[in-house]
Amino acid sequence: MSHTKQTRRLTPASSETLLTMLETLPGAFFFLNDSDTIVYANAQAQVITGATREELHGNPFWRSAPHLVSTALYQAVLKTRQTQEPTEVEYGSPVTRTWLHVQLAPTMGGVMLHVHPRRAPARRQEMVPTSPPLAVAVLDGLHAGIAVLTPEGIVLEINEAPLDGAHLRREEVIGQPLTQTPWWSFTPAGQEQLRAAIARASTGETVLFETLVRPREGMFLHLEVAITPQVNADHHIEYLVIAGIDITARKRAEEEIRVLVDAIPQLVWMARPDGSAEYCNQRWCDYTGMTCQQAQGDGWLQPIHPDDQQRTLGVWQRALQTGRPYEAEQRLRHGTTGDYRWFLVRAEPFKDAQGQIVKWFGTCTDIQEQKRAEQQLKESRENLRVLAETVPQLVWTTGPDNRLDYCNQRYCEYTHATFEQLQGHGWRQFLHPEDDQGVMPLRYQTLETGEPFESECRLRNGQTGTYRWFLARGMPVRDDTGQITKWFGTNTDIQEQKRIEEALRQSQERIRALIDSNIIGITTAEVEGEVLVEANDAWLHMSGYTREDVRSRTLTRARITPPEQAPLFERALQEVTTRGQHTPIEAELVCKDGSRLPVLVGGVLFQDRPRQMVGFALDNSARKELEQRKDDFIGMASHELRTPLTALKLQTTLLARQLAKQGTQASAPALSSMETQINKLIRLVEELLDVSKIQAGRLEYRQETVDLDALLREIAGTMQQSHPSHRILVQGAVRASLLGDRDRLGQVITNLLENAIKYAPDAQTVEIDLSASEDAVTIRVRDHGLGIPREQREKIFERFYRTADPKQRVIPGLGMGLYIVAEIVKRYGGTITVDSEVGKGSTFTVTLPLMRDARPRKARHARHLSR
Ligand code: ADP
Repeated sequence: MSHTKQTRRLTPASSETLLTMLETLPGAFFFLNDSDTIVYANAQAQVITGATREELHGNPFWRSAPHLVSTALYQAVLKTRQTQEPTEVEYGSPVTRTWLHVQLAPTMGGVMLHVHPRRAPARRQEMVPTSPPLAVAVLDGLHAGIAVLTPEGIVLEINEAPLDGAHLRREEVIGQPLTQTPWWSFTPAGQEQLRAAIARASTGETVLFETLVRPREGMFLHLEVAITPQVNADHHIEYLVIAGIDITARKRAEEEIRVLVDAIPQLVWMARPDGSAEYCNQRWCDYTGMTCQQAQGDGWLQPIHPDDQQRTLGVWQRALQTGRPYEAEQRLRHGTTGDYRWFLVRAEPFKDAQGQIVKWFGTCTDIQEQKRAEQQLKESRENLRVLAETVPQLVWTTGPDNRLDYCNQRYCEYTHATFEQLQGHGWRQFLHPEDDQGVMPLRYQTLETGEPFESECRLRNGQTGTYRWFLARGMPVRDDTGQITKWFGTNTDIQEQKRIEEALRQSQERIRALIDSNIIGITTAEVEGEVLVEANDAWLHMSGYTREDVRSRTLTRARITPPEQAPLFERALQEVTTRGQHTPIEAELVCKDGSRLPVLVGGVLFQDRPRQMVGFALDNSARKELEQRKDDFIGMASHELRTPLTALKLQTTLLARQLAKQGTQASAPALSSMETQINKLIRLVEELLDVSKIQAGRLEYRQETVDLDALLREIAGTMQQSHPSHRILVQGAVRASLLGDRDRLGQVITNLLENAIKYAPDAQTVEIDLSASEDAVTIRVRDHGLGIPREQREKIFERFYRTADPKQRVIPGLGMGLYIVAEIVKRYGGTITVDSEVGKGSTFTVTLPLMRDARPRKARHARHLSR
């Protein structure tokens, strides 16, 4: 509509004359409106453009008349429109290469163009310059594709290079909107990109971008495009120059790099000189879970651990400023797990020929494992250090050259020196001079062989100046190749150990001296098997056995001890088991030749599994012999004393009778006293004789029926007469008779009653009590006297034993009474026990079995063989 309107307004349609004239005038006439639309074109114009009037009318001039389009003409149209003055321009047609002379004149709301084709250029000063800055002839020489566009994007001029590539003729392009040309028309996205760029450029901005074009079917080119607006003196944008540089090769190279970069087992990225990210490889994207686009600009900072971002950025900025390589350790978040791993990030600047940084190439190397290993190493180093500080030893390390390079605090404390004083060979000043001579050559020797070493040396205590013994141990530390890199060592204080060892050695020596002394026989026996496993020379000597006998393990207890002493040894063994040792016992050793040697033996348990005991044996024969002699003497002496005593008693009795007959009463008391004393003496001598007989096993026992009850009452009666100080209370009665020796049984009762009276000086009563069961009779004698301490209750039955208690000591006695009692009771197969409380009294209990044949068993004869 607007075309019609304008046509009507602009076309002097009323004037047929004018139209006819225009049709007939030489040259082509175009009338353009404000938007460069053709409102009229004459016949000649149709000839020049090769188009019908219909094809021209109402269409844009620049598109409809490509033969005529040029920057010069375009500039001239603009000038005419602005100045409203006629002008003219001459130029070579970019399409036909013919010279054209165009006269332009303003019309009402438009411009009139009168085009004259010419053979050669005219020389007219006033014309618009025929060689605009971007003349096609000039541009044709360029490889780059260059075109001049109207601010709307219509192609005014274009050089040869792009036309060649696209197999296009210039007229196919000139006057066309660039977006519609084959290069751009293949994709709407490309068209849109160009359209937007042209729009931005026509506002005065220089626009740079990269794009992909398709000059022809099957051919694609990467272009780096720059659109530069050309501004005239009035600050109007006259036209746009678009230059496209083929960067296909570079792009391909870049693509190749990218493929390569994607193949690298690292996260790889590229950044622009300003530090903004440009590209990240697939691995980077896979790891971070981000796309390459998301990393653009400073998106790459996102996956970095918040704690590391500031530091990383700082280092990156410094690298950008200095142009020096960038290196930083940072944690990067894994896109899917959200976990952070440590990476070592490095970047190198890539510079052009002028030394300008074009790009930064960076890599991120996963060092998580390394970090972890480092951490572990750190921890284990720390552990080692703590360990070295806690152990009670002096800890040190030296280099392969034996120079100290570490020691623990304890080392410093002991030597009272600083590490600086000890390092290198400093520690040697604390080594005892004698040991320095001994230890150092050994160390150097082991350094060469690489053998762990152990040596004892004395180190000086830095504070006290005294030396202590240490055991130094060293172990080599080797690297992967087996090379010794270090010696790790400890010094253990063995001073106390040394002292103990010395003490032990001395005590062992003493024991050895004892064992070898030939005084005491020492044996080792296995408790379980009761067999001798070791014996010293002294024992072998006294027993007559050989070392071979010992070794053959045939010296059992049964073999080397008399059978009748088995109970004695069993008791001793029992004691060893419970107490670890037994009270020495007097026993006999059966020697190799069958003779018996009196010995004093003792034993101590000294080892478990197999339980072994160490025994000693002392030759007791000398003592036994002496004892025998003493016993013999007592026997003989008592025997010898009895005869004169009996004679004395007889004479005294006779004398008493004679004096009685003569009526001499005055001497009666003295004689009676004499008789009493003689009786006492006789009893003493008889007791002595009894003891001696018991010792020799010759105490005789008569066999007769004894009415125990009557015997007891008879003795009690007699005793009561001779001891009126105490009342003897007889309790119980037994109607049983016993087969035995009346005198001996009487001796038992008498002795017990005598003691009960004797050791209860302040008491009034003594009780004697007789009872019987089916198979035994029991005689119990109770007093209310001094009592007997517990520890003496066993001993009082021993021969000649008297207590040490002063209170009892003053009471006369020879320690034979209870010995004889116990012996008689034993012979009858009975028992005697004592129950007592010190200060309160004692009760002696005798139990005699009521055997049908109550004869005392045959006395066993203790034989002592002297050597
Ligand atoms: P002794 O001739 O010394 O009485 P015994 O063999 O009869 O000899 O007694 C040994 C020791 O036993 C005595 O010395 C005495 O210490 C102690 N003893 C014996 N009977 C009694 C008792 N009834 N009360 C206290 N001590 C007694």
